[in-house]
Amino acid sequence: MAQVAILGGGIAGLSAAWELEQAKRAGVAVDYCLFETTNRLGGSISSTVVDGSVIERGPDSFLTEKPAAAELCKALGLEKDLLGSNDEARKTWIVVGRKLVALPDGLMFLVPTKLIPTALTPLFSIKTKIKMGLELLHPPRPHQGDESVADLVKRHYGQEAVDRLADPLLSGIYGGDATQLSAETVLARMVEMEREYGSLTRGMLAGYRKMRAAMKGKEPRPARPIFTTLRGGLQQMVDALTAGIDAGCVRLSTPVEGLEKTADGWLVTAGGAPEKYDAVIVATPAWAAAGLLKPVDTELGEQLGGIPYSSSITVNLVYDEKRLGELPEGFGFLVPAVEKRALLAATFVHRKFLGRTKPGKAVIRAFLGGAHNEVLLGETDEKLVATVRRELQEILGVTAEPEMTEVRRWRRAMAQYAVGHKARQERIKARLTELPGLQLIGNAYDGIGVADCIRLGRAAAKKISASL
Ligand SMILES: Cc1cc2nc3c(=O)[nH]c(=O)nc-3n(C[C@H](O)[C@H](O)[C@H](O)COP(=O)(O)OP(=O)(O)OC[C@H]3O[C@@H](n4cnc5c(N)ncnc54)[C@H](O)[C@@H]3O)c2cc1C
Repeated sequence: MAQVAILGGGIAGLSAAWELEQAKRAGVAVDYCLFETTNRLGGSISSTVVDGSVIERGPDSFLTEKPAAAELCKALGLEKDLLGSNDEARKTWIVVGRKLVALPDGLMFLVPTKLIPTALTPLFSIKTKIKMGLELLHPPRPHQGDESVADLVKRHYGQEAVDRLADPLLSGIYGGDATQLSAETVLARMVEMEREYGSLTRGMLAGYRKMRAAMKGKEPRPARPIFTTLRGGLQQMVDALTAGIDAGCVRLSTPVEGLEKTADGWLVTAGGAPEKYDAVIVATPAWAAAGLLKPVDTELGEQLGGIPYSSSITVNLVYDEKRLGELPEGFGFLVPAVEKRALLAATFVHRKFLGRTKPGKAVIRAFLGGAHNEVLLGETDEKLVATVRRELQEILGVTAEPEMTEVRRWRRAMAQYAVGHKARQERIKARLTELPGLQLIGNAYDGIGVADCIRLGRAAAKKISASL
C-alpha cells in the first residue's frame, strides 16, 4: 500500500486528498495523510451564512471558463447549488478622484477595441486616446524576454492606461502590482499578439474575427456567466470535500516541521517522530514549502523562497437596503493605486450573485491591502471598518451604519507571478525531476484561482494513482 503525505489543507491539498480517497475506494493500493497547520480545512476559502446572507471571507467565486471547479462541484453532488453571476447587471467602475468612471464599452480585458467609446470616455486624457489610436500602427515585435505588465501596457497605450486600467484590473485578480507582475505569465496572449500583429488592438480584433468565422453556421453557444459560485457559499465545497475524505486521514493543527528524502521515499516530521511516506504532495504556500525543502535541495528551496506573496484584507458590511440608499448600477468598483486610497475594490455582493443575500439586505465587500499597502494588516478591525466606511462615503456617498461587519486578514496568501516567473517554474520543474515522489501544488505555480488549484490538486493525486 503506497502512503502519501499531503502538506496543507487549502483547496489544492484538499482536492488531492479527495482524489486519492476516490482511488482508494476504487481499489487502488494507496492511503494518505493530510497535514494542516490550522484547525480547519479550506485555507483561503472560508464563508459563512449570517442571518440569511452569505458572507465570503476569501474568494467569492471561480471563473466559469476554467472547468475544474464546476466539475468538482458536480462530482461532489453540488450541481444544483452552482450559481452564475448576474452578468446582465455587470458594469465595472474605476475610481477617479471622488468619481466613478465606467470602463468604456469595447474593452477586451485591457485592450480598447471600439473607437467611439474609447474617444468619449472620461477615463483617459486626450494624449492617451491619441496613443491608443496610434497603437494600431505598431509593427510586430519579436519577444525579447519577460518584462512587467506595466512596461508592456505602457509601450502600447501609455502610463495612464497602466494606472487606470492594468493596475486596478490586475490587482483585483492577483492582489499585485503591475510594475512587478510578469507579462509573459499574466498577459501571455498579449505577448503572443505583439509578436504576431504588433498592435494589441489589431491582434484582439483579429482573434475576435477568427472566433466569429469559426462559429459561422454553428448553433450559437448559450452565453455562460463569467463567474460561478455556490448558492450557500464556497465553504459548501470545502465541507463536501471534507465529508468525502476519511476523517482518520486528516491531522488538523499539525504543521509539518521537517521533510527528508530517503533512499526509497520521504520522512515527514510533524510534532513527533518522523513518519515514512512513499510520496509527498506539498500544497502549502511556496514560502512554507521553501523552508521545508531547502534542507532537501538548496536550489529548489531558494527558487520557491523567491516567489513573492501579497496579503489582503476583506471587510464585509451588511446593510439594511432601505437605509443604504441607491448604489450605482453594476457589481462594484476598482480603485487604482495612484488614487492613494486604502480601498482596492468593493463588490456589491447582492448584485453580483442573486439569491445569496437576504431580501431587504445589501452586502458590500471591500478589499484592502495588496502589494501597495501591507501596513494595513496591523490595524485593528474597528480602524479598518472606519477606514472602509469613510472611503465608501467619499466615493459612493454611503453614510448608513452597517448592521454587521466582518474583517478577515489574509497574510501572504496570494502568490505573485513576478517578472521571470516562467523561467523560475522551469528551474523548479528541473529540480523536481531529481526528487521522485515529490509534487508541488497550489496557487504559486500554474494559475492563481480556485479552479487552477483544484486542477493541480486532482492531477497530482491522479499521477500517483496511475503510477501504482
Ligand atoms: C481574499 C482573497 C480573495 C480571492 N478571490 C478569489 C476569487 O474570487 N476567485 C478565485 O478563483 N480565486 C480567488 N482567490 C485565490 C484563491 O482563493 C487561492 O489562490 C486558493 O484558494 C489557494 O489555495 P491553496 O490550496 O493553494 O492555498 P491556501 O488556501 O493558502 O492553503 C494552504 C494551506 O497550507 C497550510 N500550511 C502552510 N504551511 C503548512 C505546514 N508547514 N504544514 C501543514 N500545513 C501548512 C495553510 O495553513 C493553508 O491552510 C482569492 C484569494 C484571497 C486571499
